[in-house]
Amino acid sequence: MEILPAMLPDFIAAIDDVINANADEVTSLDQAIGDGDHVTNLQRGIQALKEHQEEFVQLDWSGAWQKIGMILMSSVGGASGSLYGTFFIAMSKTVRGRQMSLEVYSEVFSEGVESIKKRGKADAGEKTMLDVLVPVAEYLQNAVTGATSLSAVLEKIPGIAVDGMESTRDMLATKGRASFLGDRTRGHIDAGAKTAQLMICAVVEVINERLTPPS
Ligand code: ADP
Ligand code: MG
Repeated sequence: MEILPAMLPDFIAAIDDVINANADEVTSLDQAIGDGDHVTNLQRGIQALKEHQEEFVQLDWSGAWQKIGMILMSSVGGASGSLYGTFFIAMSKTVRGRQMSLEVYSEVFSEGVESIKKRGKADAGEKTMLDVLVPVAEYLQNAVTGATSLSAVLEKIPGIAVDGMESTRDMLATKGRASFLGDRTRGHIDAGAKTAQLMICAVVEVINERLTPPS
């Protein structure tokens, strides 16, 4: 099965649903060690993407991600807006002129995550979305060499994302607003790690449904 930009409206709808379903929980996480606006920031971005989704399906991946990145940059606000905007624009540049495959996507995703690290001057271990994104990127890069099938590669991603999200609980925040609280950040899951995990799991689920249509 080839994953095409025509699936973007389904990905966006699944992300919209999972963010809305977990909005209260994520808001209390961000209230504990941030300023509590993370969910509304994301919801603003998702709404803006929905308004433009018919344009994405006409484009190739490079064109669609470029547009998505620009829309997120201008609509989300907060640290997460510029970080996710950068992520999609880096993916757009890396895939430009190339044929999409699992191997190419693993490289593209890693470049996207690298761009977040650069933009936020952060890395895994600092209690941010990177604690989910970095392990998933590393897994993808290893998994595609000798991968048996797309479904075999996808199967492990939710567990890795959940472990990454959970790992932020005991970390000390050294980046973003939470870093102002120092030691008091321990014991709370990072809101951005939680939403990264939810969004990744939602996308994996949509692809899985396509791979195994209900009988
Ligand atoms: P803001 O912190 O500006 O209010 P949001 O609330 O939308 O923005 O997003 C906060 C999330 O962004 C944090 O929970 C964290 O996961 C992520 N984040 C913040 N700063 C950084 C950074 N420098 N690098 C990576 N992720 C970051
Ligand atoms: Mg915030």
